[in-house]
Parts: sequence; structure tokens; C-alpha cells
Amino acid sequence: MSHTIVNPADETVVTTVEAATVDETDAAIADAARAQREWARAAPADRARVLRRFADAVDGAIDELAGLEVRNSGHPVGQARWEAGHVRDVLEYYAAAPERMSGRQIPVAGGLDVTFHEPLGVVGVITPWNFPMTIASWGFAPALAAGNAVVLKPAEWTPLTSLRLAELGLEAGLPEGLFRVIPGRGSVVGERFVTNETVRKVVFTGSTEVGKRIMAGCADQVKRVTLELGGKSANLVFADADLERAAATAPYGVFENAGQDCCARSRILVERSVYDRFMELLEPAVQGVKVGDPADESTEMGPLVARTHLDRVASFVPDDADVAFRGTAPDGPGFWFAPTVLTPARDSRAAREEIFGPVVSVFPFDDEADAISFANASEYGLSGSVWTRDLSRGIRVARAIESGNLSVNSHSSVRYATPFGGFKQSGLGRELGPDAPLAFTETKNVFFAVDQPPVVA
Ligand code: NAP
Repeated sequence: MSHTIVNPADETVVTTVEAATVDETDAAIADAARAQREWARAAPADRARVLRRFADAVDGAIDELAGLEVRNSGHPVGQARWEAGHVRDVLEYYAAAPERMSGRQIPVAGGLDVTFHEPLGVVGVITPWNFPMTIASWGFAPALAAGNAVVLKPAEWTPLTSLRLAELGLEAGLPEGLFRVIPGRGSVVGERFVTNETVRKVVFTGSTEVGKRIMAGCADQVKRVTLELGGKSANLVFADADLERAAATAPYGVFENAGQDCCARSRILVERSVYDRFMELLEPAVQGVKVGDPADESTEMGPLVARTHLDRVASFVPDDADVAFRGTAPDGPGFWFAPTVLTPARDSRAAREEIFGPVVSVFPFDDEADAISFANASEYGLSGSVWTRDLSRGIRVARAIESGNLSVNSHSSVRYATPFGGFKQSGLGRELGPDAPLAFTETKNVFFAVDQPPVVA
């Protein structure tokens, strides 16, 4: 069976990709297991060198990878180039890990006690369609660095950059079979990562619904699992904030990647005393977002990824929705949806559910306690922002919000050198940051008995 890849900006066919069967998946996993045994035995400096070469190969292919993402996912070309550069940086960062995976020597009686970080073996990475190459690298780079093999299933809609990354890895010197991208259906290839006993860990990024299923399936083999799931993050704007900056940046905190971002600040909470002023400032900022051809260097927001996703996003904005104002979007072919600002009730569907499109809801709040309580009134807890000039308030509120990634006076979420992940139903475990390779290892403790000479009086 094959899957047709459609360009979301104009609905033309880009290519078709063959979907793997269960047997093909099993064969790739078996190859990966063989390759992993060699890889784990290689000198740490040699593994580091290959990963640095892989980073160099990605660096040399930035425009090519960006072009693929523009056609496959509709990402604006500037953003897509950043994503390819991020993959290079993630590889470079974790290329340092093989030579730094030190265990410990623990003082005990009667001998020498040391710990080792042993690789798990084969790791299965399942990625979503919203940031195909960056999220793939968060899994494969630290897993390979820790001495594992990786089988990766990209989302059906967006496999092209992951397939190319696997080729670049091979060209850079990764052993044959060590890093395999297996396109196919979630219910076939993804499920097989869960049920095949040779896969020792599943790293899943996607919806909370599928994540729960994967976690339940992994329980059967006590398989390790990392989950990066949905979000409904809050952007809190206090009356003492730099309102101009808060309003000018708020669209980019939610409409980046057309709102198809797990970290999208899709609820803006504004202190009641400045609510009207904030809305006056927000309207031109939203209308100023440049929505259009992703191949155009000046475009800030492209189309949604697919027709079915467009229909789902549109279902959050029925004819009687509380629309405050909207930005613009092209007419004609393509899965376009204009940036949209709603002012719904706090308990409405738009206020509670992850929309994963360019739709943001704005709510007034009364005081700090009300803001924190509403920000936390969600099953999710991935990201969020706090805008205030009061340092103490910034610290207090950031600590009080039940979320894995917060920024004060900015909308930053992801840096490869800092840990990323969710509280509550936004996920389990952390990716990125200095400790990520350890999540792809088991700690082994070895005690060496030491013969003691008789004590001489
Ligand atoms: P999804 O429907 O859950 O799919 C994610 C991946 O899982 C796809 O590769 C999918 O394959 C596969 N899959 C589907 N059913 C499966 C099954 N039964 N067993 C194993 N794998 C299966 O999510 P999505 O719509 O692609 O992505 C959007 C979601 O991802 C949003 O909720 C978003 O918040 C979340 N996300 C979270 C983060 C984070 O870091 N926390 C980052 C990005 C996105 P198919 O393509 O074949 O369906």
C-alpha cells in the first residue's frame, strides 16, 4: 500500500510513499538489533565522530531539507530552514555524549562498586506531522549517542524529511541498519514497535489519546516509554506588563506553524483592568501576521497540513462563535485558515480542547490567584508564558503553573540544551537537555570483590 503526499499550500501531489507491512517492520527491527551490537562495541570517540559527520551532512543539506518540508508540510521556508539547522545542532550537541557517559564509583565495603550506563538496544521513535524533522531528532540523536539503534515511524502525512535524514546518516557513516525510517500506518508500524519485544523503548510524540494507548500497550512488556503529548497552554498578561510587547508577540506565541504546535499559547489570559487596551493592540498584531505561500521568504504562516485537519480546526469556529477579529489567508487551493481570535466562555469547547490550528481564545482575569487557577484548570501542562514587570510575580507565577516549560516575558519553549516535556496529560519523561541520553540507558551496578590482605598488627 502507498500513501499520497499532498502539498498543503496548493493541493498538488508531491509524491507517493510505500507503507511498510508488519513483516517489513520486524525485518528492520531485527537488522537494527544486529547493527546495535556493533555500534555499542565501537569506541566512544568513533561513535562521536560519526554523529558529528551526520551533523555536517545535515548542515550541507539544510536548503534541501527545508524545501522538502515546505512541499510536504507547508512550513514557511524561513521556519523550515531553522528546523533543519536545529536538527544539525541537536546532532552536534549529542555527538559529545558518547565520550561523556560516565558512570559512578560508589564507596562500599569489601570491593569496588561502579555503575555503567548500558544502552537499551533498539529504540522505536514515533513522530507526529507538525514538526517532522525536529521532533525526530530529539529521539534519534540522544538514542544513537547512548549506543542504541533507532527505528523511526514518521507520521503518514509527513515522512519526507525523516526519510532523507536516514539517508544522510548512512552517507555520514552510520552502520547499515542502525537508524531506519519506516514509513507506514500508526496502527501497523507504530503498533509493532509496541508489541515487538526487541524494541526496548518507545518514544512517542503525538495526541494524548494515542499516547495513552501506547503506554497501556508498553505496560505488557514493561517497555520503557517517553510521551510528548498535547497542550492547551496559557499566556498570562498582567496589568504591569509591557503591554505593547505582550500584544505584538502574542500572535507568534500561538500562530507559529499555523498553530500546529504543542506549545501554542492558545489561551491568552489578560488582567481585567488592561483587557480592552490589550485587545486594541492585539487586533493589528493579528492582522499583521503574513499568511501565504510558504515558499515566499517573507511568509510567517502557511496552510494547515491536510483537508481533514482543516475541517477539524474549522469545527471550533462555527457561525455563532464569539469571534473578536481575524487575520487574513489566501483564497483558492490549499488548506488555509485565517488567524482567529475568540472570546469564549471559560468552559467552552474552544477554551478546553487542543485546537492545533491558528485559533486563540482571550479571557479576562481578576487577580494573580484567579489567573493561576484558570491556567491550571486543564488536563494538559506543557508550556506557557507570563508577562509582568514585577520580578517576584514572574517567579511566583512561573513556579505555580503546572507546566513543563515556561517563559517570562517571552514565548520561548524549545532549546536543545534544556529539558522539554509536559506535566499531567501533556506527557511523561523529558527530551533534550544534558540528561536526554541517559533516558536511553539502563543503569547497571557492578561490584568487584577485592581480596583483603590479612591485617598486620
Ligand atoms: P497522532 O494522531 O497521535 O499521531 C502521532 C503518531 O502516532 C503518528 O505517526 C501516527 O501515525 C502514530 N499512531 C497513530 N495511531 C497509532 C497507534 N495505534 N500505535 C502507534 N502509533 C500510532 O498525533 P498527530 O495528529 O500526528 O499530532 C498532533 C498531536 O501531537 C497534538 O496533540 C500535539 O499536541 C502533539 N504533539 C506533542 C508534542 C510534544 O512535544 N508534547 C510535540 C508535537 C506534537 P499515522 O500518521 O499513521 O496516524
